[in-house]
Amino acid sequence: MPVEDIVSRLKRFGEGEIKREDGVSGIDVEDDARLLVNDIERYPHAFVLACIADRQTKSDIAWSLPHAIREAASGFEFDTLRGLSEDQWTSVLASSGHRLATEMVRLLPAAIGHIGDRYGGDASRIWANGSSGAAVARRFLAFDGVGPKIGNMAVNILIRDFGIRLTRPMPDIAVDTHVLRVFERLGLLGRLDHSQLRSTQGKQQLRLQLRARELNPEWPGELDWPAWHLGTKWCHAGRAPECDACCMRPVCPRDGVASQSTVGS
Ligand code: SF4
Repeated sequence: MPVEDIVSRLKRFGEGEIKREDGVSGIDVEDDARLLVNDIERYPHAFVLACIADRQTKSDIAWSLPHAIREAASGFEFDTLRGLSEDQWTSVLASSGHRLATEMVRLLPAAIGHIGDRYGGDASRIWANGSSGAAVARRFLAFDGVGPKIGNMAVNILIRDFGIRLTRPMPDIAVDTHVLRVFERLGLLGRLDHSQLRSTQGKQQLRLQLRARELNPEWPGELDWPAWHLGTKWCHAGRAPECDACCMRPVCPRDGVASQSTVGS
């Protein structure tokens, strides 16, 4: 199967799964929490805080955090958050269930400080009109605790789920274990099984990023969401993939998947 056909099917799947009126895709949070992180016109800092929190914990905990902070602070205006004491941050984060709660007590107030100092309290200036995708990712990287994965993820969400128009160069794919596994099984990226070197994982992640640029140069990050969604829903890591339920089945070579280990085969 030509690689172009696999990529175009992957992109079609991604487009079909997006319901833009629902805002951020792939999160399962209560309505109040969803409304807050989706209200990027009034509360753009809610989106930024959720992105910073979205690591090493369930994404639903991260995307619920702004709402939990609002409840504790009795408001979510920028100045309200800027006035929160360390004890208030500690209290709300300690009960959030976030695995990195202690680190977030440092990172989230620091993010509010950065938005205040650098953007005058208006986080939407991070993705100001006329910005390139690469510039917005670079601005996210200026936040303490944000690495390349979160930086690219944030910009890809802004474009994909909020329809924010950015110019080229567009953001890279957010390198993630689910995305990597799906790329390998789809035959879009050769495995590096031959190497026992400790650097293999890092090298493979870099190869994934470069491969996405090669396959979809106009917006490498466009491949991020559909691959991640497949990986979390059907193309499992710890158990057999559900190939018969997966929309990529007709074109997928299922590289590295033993035929007897497929659910439903
Ligand atoms: S067909 Fe199977 S191996 Fe291929 S992407 Fe779907 S779940 Fe993964």
